[in-house]
Amino acid sequence: MSKLWQTELWRLLGVIFVSLIFGLVFESIAWSLAIGLLLYLVWQALQVRHLERWLDKDLTIPPYELEGIWHNLAYRIHQNRRRSRKRRKRMADVIRRFQKSTQALPDAAVVLTSNEEIEWINNAATRIIGITKHDVGQNINNLLRNPEFHDFLRQGDYSKHLEISSPLDENIALDVRIRPYGENQRLLVVRDITHIHRLMTMRHDLIANISHELRSPLTVILGYLEILLNAPADTDPQKLHEQIAKLQSPTTRIKTLVDDLLLLSRLDTTSNEEKNTIIDIPGLVQKVTDEAQHLSNGKHIIQCSIETDTHLFGIKDELHSAFINLINNAIHYTPEGKKIYIRWYLNKDDNTACFEVKDHGIGIAWGHLHRLTERFYRIDPGRSKATGGTGLGLSIVEQILRRHGADLHINSTPGRGSTFTCIFQPGWQRASQ
Ligand code: ADP
Repeated sequence: MSKLWQTELWRLLGVIFVSLIFGLVFESIAWSLAIGLLLYLVWQALQVRHLERWLDKDLTIPPYELEGIWHNLAYRIHQNRRRSRKRRKRMADVIRRFQKSTQALPDAAVVLTSNEEIEWINNAATRIIGITKHDVGQNINNLLRNPEFHDFLRQGDYSKHLEISSPLDENIALDVRIRPYGENQRLLVVRDITHIHRLMTMRHDLIANISHELRSPLTVILGYLEILLNAPADTDPQKLHEQIAKLQSPTTRIKTLVDDLLLLSRLDTTSNEEKNTIIDIPGLVQKVTDEAQHLSNGKHIIQCSIETDTHLFGIKDELHSAFINLINNAIHYTPEGKKIYIRWYLNKDDNTACFEVKDHGIGIAWGHLHRLTERFYRIDPGRSKATGGTGLGLSIVEQILRRHGADLHINSTPGRGSTFTCIFQPGWQRASQ
């Protein structure tokens, strides 16, 4: 028996003992006992009343008014309540933290009940799959109307993932994953993978383009090799030499292509954050102008105007490569006898430094302008190949400029000529000493 029950028993015995004494004194034991026990019962009833009132109140206050086993009972209820309040608070904190972290996720998160009803969503769910807070309680299948998704949800093999297009825009590719969660709940995580799709398409196109570019010169080389292998032993050495010489052009083409691809790959994968090498751009512009004269071989009127002494932070070989690429194009796409104008100047409006190549050549139709820097994009593939172009020149220029915090601006009118401007921001400039 617990100590409290013993105390209570002693209390009852005490009441009986006092009642007996009174009974002996007043010679009415039965009445005295009855009154004593009645008072004891009334006291107990008052305790129950106090307990009832205390239970109705805010249970954060301990049960001070109660006594004996009632106090103990109420105290235990009080302790249990306190413990469960703390547990609930901890749970609420965990849920709040979970919701906060899933809110911060860039992916859509949706909590589903066992009946596939939406229980909770994060903000990204509205942006990615168009489910709003008003849709909470609705069946997900009514909102994501996609048979593949429906089957995926039903089958319950959540080790796999599903790729579907967004209900908001079919060009947006989504990756859907489901994880069992809580009691028969499921957490749906939807990620926008359009950029990964795009990268895969780009990689596929790039491989197809490279294979296509290599195929033509390799076919030519194979053709000549076959002729050489089948040539009779007494073939005139002069004729043999002529055949071998014909291998030079397709081989050079392959080498140029591989060199350009390697350069692009290096530009793509290395960073250029060092701004500590100062490049003498006026000197470089003079150098590329001399090279332009050499490349044109007197067929064009090449003029150069260096209007500022401004130097740039950067990598000299890369800037040389970008400038000479633009000049090369100007020479290739400008008829003989026309003017090509090379300029280095400061734009007073926005303090940018500009390297400009202006030609009076064939020009470019407006619709092509935004695609010119795509790898292997050519307006006239036949003409480009005839000039030895790989279709990579402007991609290389753009990539080099990006590494120097600069932009390429193209202005062109078909039949009148084009202007290519490399625009360097003030942060990359350095006034000459
Ligand atoms: P390519 O090696 O074919 O010259 P680029 O990337 O340098 O490759 O140029 C892409 C395309 O842009 C060229 O095929 C050509 O059609 C067009 N282009 C580039 N520069 C000029 C220019 N100065 N005038 C006219 N068209 C140009």
